Amino acid sequence: MRCIEMQSIGRAAVTERPVPVREPGWALVDVLACGLCGTDRHILRGEYPSRMPLVLGHEFGGRVREADPDSRWRAGDLVTIDPNIACGSCDHCRAGRVALCPDRYALGVDIDGGLSEVVAVPETQLYAASGIDPLHLAFIEPLACCLRGMDLAGLQGGESVAVIGGGVMGQLVVQLAALAGASRVTLITRQASRRSLAETLGATDSAAPDAADRDLGRTYDVVFECAGVLDTVAQALRLARRGGSVILLGIPPEGATLPVSPFALVVDELRLQGSFLNPLTQERAAAVVRDGALNLDALISRRLTLDEVAEVLASDPGEGDIKYVVEPTGRPAVPSIP
Ligand code: NAP
Repeated sequence: MRCIEMQSIGRAAVTERPVPVREPGWALVDVLACGLCGTDRHILRGEYPSRMPLVLGHEFGGRVREADPDSRWRAGDLVTIDPNIACGSCDHCRAGRVALCPDRYALGVDIDGGLSEVVAVPETQLYAASGIDPLHLAFIEPLACCLRGMDLAGLQGGESVAVIGGGVMGQLVVQLAALAGASRVTLITRQASRRSLAETLGATDSAAPDAADRDLGRTYDVVFECAGVLDTVAQALRLARRGGSVILLGIPPEGATLPVSPFALVVDELRLQGSFLNPLTQERAAAVVRDGALNLDALISRRLTLDEVAEVLASDPGEGDIKYVVEPTGRPAVPSIP
């Protein structure tokens, strides 16, 4: 089988490997779609700890090729995969906080992932995806992370919401906030094309970062930070109104620090809340996609073959591009939605 193997920092290439041998409790999956994510670039540049050699890719789904005969999965089942594998027995896991499991590891980060024709996956990580357009399988994991952020925000309808960062996470959160009944959803991002896109997806308005600072300070009930940049984290705190919440979805560089006024947090009753990964939200994300509640096609900038991945990962995303989706087993001649 062919896969994208990271062989050393900065070097990823199409590689031939034997199809993995299935272990008990694991399934083999033929990968139909795998998203490329900023984290893949961080891993490749050595900015995010990972194992090597490693098959990259953690946003993927496909069809079961082989599973335990006594499992619920059958060859041909369409599945989405939660790439984050927790121990299931520590205090955090037993309380449902699986993202905080100290022994958590991930497909595409610590063990071989989905930029491959075939991938081996623990059956605990599979969720049914019947009825979903195979291309949309690439969105379920990032969407599951956004749902965690939505859960923590606790929107009840009628709130004013700002979303900072117009990449895939920001564009998904814009759509989710609109669905949740926010009265105002403003996307703040530098690129005009991303601002226009968000306004077609449910944002009521949008602003460049400097304009937002000039005109929109202290006006939002909830601010979602989806860029992972220190400047935008600081801006999120400036945009939240007294009594408001700042939900940090973007992942800033490890070790980076920011001056924050604890006095302001107290007297303004500001909530500063991190949101990490997709604890038990993968199935809901699959349902959201299956129900067609979001416009995902508008977020697909390019469909790639495995042969195109290494070059794309080595460079920054193109201007205005949102999501690259890789189809490791090729494109079906006729799109099929079982
Ligand atoms: P992305 O496609 O790179 O989008 C981030 C966007 O932020 C960029 O496209 C950029 O758009 C905008 N941005 C960057 N600097 C900015 C600035 N100074 N002011 C305003 N906007 C700025 O990344 P993504 O896939 O959407 O992910 C977003 C963040 O979420 C990343 O940090 C990623 O690691 C993180 N993430 C977190 C989780 C989690 O579980 N918490 C899960 C997945 C991803 P413009 O060029 O238009 O400004």
